[in-house]
Parts: sequence; C-alpha cells; structure tokens
Amino acid sequence: MDFISITNKEHVDTLPRDWDVLLVTPIVNPNTPNFISKNDNKGKYRWIDAFHPAMGIRFIAENYEGVRILEYPTMDKFENELKKGVDVVGISFLTIQMYDVEHMIDLIRKYDVKEIWGGGWGIETPGAKELFDRTFTGHGEQAVFPLLKDRWQGHKHPKLLGDAHMVKLSAKLGYLSSIRGCKYKCEYCPSPAMVPEMLSTPISEIKKLLDYYLEKKVSAIIIYDETFLQDKQYSERIVEMLNERGLLWFCLTSSTELKGQVSKLRDKGFLGCLMGIESLRDKTLLHHKRGGRLTSLNMDVIKEMKDNNCYLIGTYIFCHELDTEKSMREDIEKLASMDIPAVMPTILTPYPGTPPFERYADRIIDWDWTHWDDGHLVWRHNSITPEVGKQVLSDCYDQCNSLSYNMKFVFKEAIHNVIPFKIKRKFFGKKPAVHTNPSISNSFFTNLKEEDIYTNSISDEQKYLKDLANRMNSNKT
Ligand code: SF4
Repeated sequence: MDFISITNKEHVDTLPRDWDVLLVTPIVNPNTPNFISKNDNKGKYRWIDAFHPAMGIRFIAENYEGVRILEYPTMDKFENELKKGVDVVGISFLTIQMYDVEHMIDLIRKYDVKEIWGGGWGIETPGAKELFDRTFTGHGEQAVFPLLKDRWQGHKHPKLLGDAHMVKLSAKLGYLSSIRGCKYKCEYCPSPAMVPEMLSTPISEIKKLLDYYLEKKVSAIIIYDETFLQDKQYSERIVEMLNERGLLWFCLTSSTELKGQVSKLRDKGFLGCLMGIESLRDKTLLHHKRGGRLTSLNMDVIKEMKDNNCYLIGTYIFCHELDTEKSMREDIEKLASMDIPAVMPTILTPYPGTPPFERYADRIIDWDWTHWDDGHLVWRHNSITPEVGKQVLSDCYDQCNSLSYNMKFVFKEAIHNVIPFKIKRKFFGKKPAVHTNPSISNSFFTNLKEEDIYTNSISDEQKYLKDLANRMNSNKT
C-alpha cells in the first residue's frame, strides 16, 4: 500500500522544518441528514450524549512537533485560523462530509497556504483525491512519517478527556486507542479496506495514559479500538492495568472476543460494549465475510451480557441483498424480544474504497454524498425501496429502544457491578504495579514470557520505525 499519493505537488523528501501544519476534522454539519437524529424523532436518545475525539489527527499532532489541530471547527473559526497564516492544511474526513470539504478547500485557496493534504475514510470518495495536493492512506502518524520524520517525537498516545451527558448528569471520560485497525475483514467496512495493517500502542505509553486518567478522576475509560480484545495477550495486559487502577471501562468489540469472558471482564471493571450483530441470518453474515461470527455465537453473547448485567449497544444492518420487507419486520420483532439495552440500526452502504462499492457501481441510485450516512438506501435493491428502508430503520429504532428499560438496566448494573467493583478496589485493591521494564507483565499472565509480549503484541518505537522502513522499501519495489 502507498501511504502518500501526490497529485499537484512535486515530491519532497522532508517538509521544511519551519512549515506550520494545521490538521482539521470538519464539524458534523447540523444540516446534514444524520440517521440517528433523523430517526430519533421521539427524542429517545437525547438524554445521552458523549464526546467523540478526532483520533486520527490527534495521534499525528501528538507525535510530531509543529503540528496543530482544529477539531470540529465552525467555518468561522476555521477561517480565523487561516487568516493567522499557515503553511499546510490537512483535512481528515468521511464521505458524508465531501461537500463541506469542497467548501473548506475553496476557502483555503483564498489564503496563502502552500499545500493542502487530505486523508481519512472519505479520501476514496470519487473526485476527492483531485481536490488535494497530497493524499494519505494508512494510520495517520505512519502515513505522514516520510514528510515529517525529522519532527518525530516517539510513539505517543494523546491525552483525550471528554464529557458524557446522561439526563442532567455529566461525567468525565478518558479515551484509549490501544490497537488501531481490525483483524476481521468484513467486506462492507471501510476500516480493513482502507487500512489493513494494525498498529498497537506501546504498553508503557498506555500505562502513563491510564495513570493520567486516574489522576484526573475520570468516571470511565472508553476503549476506542475497532475490536478491543482482538489480541488476547496484549489486551489482557491492558485489562489488568485498568483493574489495578480501579478504572471502569466500555469498549467496542465482537462476540468472538467476549464469548465465555463476560463475567471475568465484569469483575475487572467492564461496563459494557458496542458489538455488531448485523444480521440474524448466517447466509448473510457469511456473504459479508464476517470471520465466523455467526448468529448462534452472537445470541450466546447477548445472553451472557444480560446475565452479567453488562450494557450492550448492538448494531444491526438492514437492506442486505437477501432481505425483504417481511424478513426485516421479522428481524425487528426478534431484536425487540431480546432485551438488548440499545439497538443501533443502519442500512447497508457500499462505501467508496470497499469491495461492495465496486460491485454495486452500476446500481447506485443516490449520489448525494450527504446521504452516505448508514441511514439511506443509496443503491438499487431488488425488492426494497429507499422509502421502505428508512421506515424499517425508524420502526426498529422505536420498537427496540426504550428509555425506561435503559434506565432500569443502568440502575441494575450500578447495583450489581459498579458499586461492588468500586468498593472492592477501594478496600481490597492492590496498587498499580511499578514496572521497571514497560513490557514486563505481572501476575495476571502466569505463563507469558516478556519476549512473547514484545514480539507478538507490542510495537515500541524501534520496532515501529523498522516496520515502517520495511514497508516503505517494499512499496518502492
Ligand atoms: S469487526 Fe467491525 S471494525 Fe472489524 S472489519 Fe468488521 S465491521 Fe469493521
């Protein structure tokens, strides 16, 4: 994979050291149709809201000197920054933000900016690459390394604090991204299509980060990995560090990783997770190459989560090739009967850069990029119209989500899990271990050797740079 492609600029080995780089993630336009706000017309989820850090640009700015960020600025704020003068502006965006990006680039061209960079999942959107001087594919700080290598500051994790609001209460959260990338290769997902490689944060860096969050008294850690626990040994080490510090945590993960593990994780501060269910038909799951995570496994884990009072947000995709309106209505009935605390319905969207985009190319019926938000049927389905697709989504949202059930669940989880965990850690917990060597684990892994952790799971700076150099060389050949 090429990390950088150059459209309008001559290649330079390294960006001049005194060039100021500003990285931006566009604001989510309130006028852009968004399937949650559109479907949440009864305001069922207005009571809960959480901050989403712009991970990609945050990691780059943390790892290179002379790089600053603007996270979700308004156009006015963005223009004010341009007025102050900047040499390079980089935009990380999604397909849905394509028109906002065009607008931003028109604005940038009015100022004396030397280069405009583009990256993020939106970069494969037809017509996107031509808008930029350089485009980047891959994990942010790896992708820009050839240009910014003399500014490299080490493989660091940004400190990410944000607020979550629940009814009238607010809580401070700390965010962690331990592994970026996903070992599964679901064919509709932009993540493996755009960035097939995985990149892990050194354990020493995670330890520092968790100590910082502990000091800041966060209420919980949100683990932002696409699939937390996908590397068992490495993730268990992190779980142990969270447990040692008495930190509660929520993650994104999948049924394979959770099966048979929920009670063990619950005792180590696991609050719950977002997990893909995606279909109740094995034929559809196999068709999408979801790596053996079939219906019976998903059902087992949904039950395991419920039995352990752990919160679950289950994502579900409608309008698969084999779906009909009748089958989708049956799915809603089944989902509603499962007592899943929150179901997040979506519509199958063949995102640019993924295999379905190529396959459905001649069936695209809606090229309005603001509709590429998982909430619109943008391709011609054999038996489902876009209107029916949207109605089904809305009905699923209504029938499978209930504020009162959520409140009851949260209360039950607090009584059974959160309070006992906090009491146990306060009165019987051990202090976080002091590791002289960051890659040495302590008691949790009885038969794991230090070399195993190092070679199988953890990229430290040296390994990371060596790996990067190898990839660069192989790209040249
Ligand atoms: S498990 Fe999730 S993140 Fe991983 S490829 Fe599948 S959809 Fe994408």
